[in-house]
Amino acid sequence: MDAAPDAAIRNVGLRLTGPRRVVLEVVRATDSHPTAEVVHRMVRRRLPRVSLGTVYRNLRLLVAEGLVKELPGPHARFDGNTSDHHHFTCLLCGRIVDVDGPLTEPHSRALCSRVAAQGDFSVTHHRIEFYGRCPACRGKSNRGALRGRGRLHQLNRAIIHP
Ligand code: ZN
Ligand code: MN
Repeated sequence: MDAAPDAAIRNVGLRLTGPRRVVLEVVRATDSHPTAEVVHRMVRRRLPRVSLGTVYRNLRLLVAEGLVKELPGPHARFDGNTSDHHHFTCLLCGRIVDVDGPLTEPHSRALCSRVAAQGDFSVTHHRIEFYGRCPACRGKSNRGALRGRGRLHQLNRAIIHP
């Protein structure tokens, strides 16, 4: 279990401010992997005057201190779950869903050893990404869903045609 937000922030040597604590609390309270804009919306329900800039800076600090994870992609998404796990991304709606780390064991462990052995690397961690369609999108046509979604379309193209 993670330390309470106040203690977690102090433990890494950051000053405890109201916005900082609320940012960490809301990111930990959701498994939707929100963007900075969405985190801002959630924080403002409790601290109406907080700016997007403040939320963004605090997210960056929390990521730098390892209290929040940032997911790679065309638009930064944040994850308050710092335990080992993977993600499934829906290519149509952009939803990101947690995949338990143990689900990919022991295959991922074997892969790590092989990668380490091949290059004489010391592998500290690895990431496995899953892509496809979520249940809500499985029946949809590609064209309709992608129209007007420039960012997702880019993501899609980058994955299909790297
Ligand atoms: Zn979907
Ligand atoms: Mn996650």
